Amino acid sequence: MKKKTSGHSALGENTRLAHLGHDPGSFHGFVNPPITRGSTVLFPDSHTMATRGQKYSYGTRGTPTTDALCEALDELEGSAGTILVPSGLAAITVPFLAYLSAGDHALVVDSVYGPCREFCNTTLKRLGVTVDYYDPAIGAGLEALIRPNTRLVHTEAPGSNTFEMQDIRLVSDIAHRHGCVVTMDNTWATPLYFRPLDHGVDVSMHATTKYPSGHSDIIMGSVSANAEHWPRLRQAQLSLGICGAPEDSYLVLRGLRTMGVRLAHHQKSALEVAQWLEGLEAVDRVMHPALESFPGHALWKRDFRGSSGIFSFVLKVDGKERFKAKAHAFLDALSLFGLGYSWGGYESLALHVDLSDRTICKAPETGPVIRLQIGLEDVADLKHDLEAGFTAAAAV
Ligand SMILES: *Cc1c(COP(=O)(O)O)cnc(C)c1O
Repeated sequence: MKKKTSGHSALGENTRLAHLGHDPGSFHGFVNPPITRGSTVLFPDSHTMATRGQKYSYGTRGTPTTDALCEALDELEGSAGTILVPSGLAAITVPFLAYLSAGDHALVVDSVYGPCREFCNTTLKRLGVTVDYYDPAIGAGLEALIRPNTRLVHTEAPGSNTFEMQDIRLVSDIAHRHGCVVTMDNTWATPLYFRPLDHGVDVSMHATTKYPSGHSDIIMGSVSANAEHWPRLRQAQLSLGICGAPEDSYLVLRGLRTMGVRLAHHQKSALEVAQWLEGLEAVDRVMHPALESFPGHALWKRDFRGSSGIFSFVLKVDGKERFKAKAHAFLDALSLFGLGYSWGGYESLALHVDLSDRTICKAPETGPVIRLQIGLEDVADLKHDLEAGFTAAAAV
């Protein structure tokens, strides 16, 4: 729903997180919003019904619970309006459907979240939209890829699994010169560490499944648009019949209250582990934007206010044919790190990254890429666990 001006922007980040969204005065003083389950909304008379002359009119169009979360996200993103969708993937596909039509062309960064590429190469293709992938480091070269029918440029920084940075301001300026809408998957940084709309992006997307939820128990996405692009996004949401579930909205808003302190902890621990890994003989390189050794570090430092808990490293292995066996030995020796995909929760995770769908940012030749999500556990224990992984990998 539309944002009301709340005047919180001068306050500190954790103060804002503690107070944004719900106004306790609007519901008998209760600190948290009610979980409003509802399809039917009653009207006092037929005139009010015919003119939709009241705040709520139908469950799919918003409830006090979904509004509380949308208002919180609008304040964090600086957006004109936010929609809630059933997953982070839908937070990409719904705006793509909103802004693209048959005959259009879109540019999508090659280090994009994998299932987005799958959507582009199947559903969008079937609907008559063509997609080209571009190098995240392309910079000003992006202009040459724009065609007369290019309508959308999708960004994600850092990129999924390999964490390439992008010059978001430059991409936005080029795309806008050609009348394109600029979208960004901002899941890694959350609006606490990067505010895409402040850097020229029109539409910011989140898997709220990740840090906003924070406990690995919810699948949900959000899409926040600036004033120019909000009406079309809202229209697409309503026409597609997509809405946020009340319990999930409630829990994501609850997650936001602690997201600042959780992220600060993820950030500190992940950096500590990343720096330690950099010094190990068994590690070829560490892909973490906050490390000075990382190629995109200068961009991260210029634009971002922090780093989160997920990054990758390349395990040093001679001979491509041994990559998988070494990676699996490493992973199977871990006991605190779980083997799982959906990050952003409180627990540490690891996996062997599959980069086979990349067309530009191909997999390194020096070894398998292992992605780590550093959870809220104590770093000493995590290092100990990883040491067991390195020992097992060395023995294969
Ligand atoms: C996890 C993720 C998504 C998808 O979120 P789901 O809720 O799991 O569908 C989208 N983008 C990025 C960058 C992600 O990491």
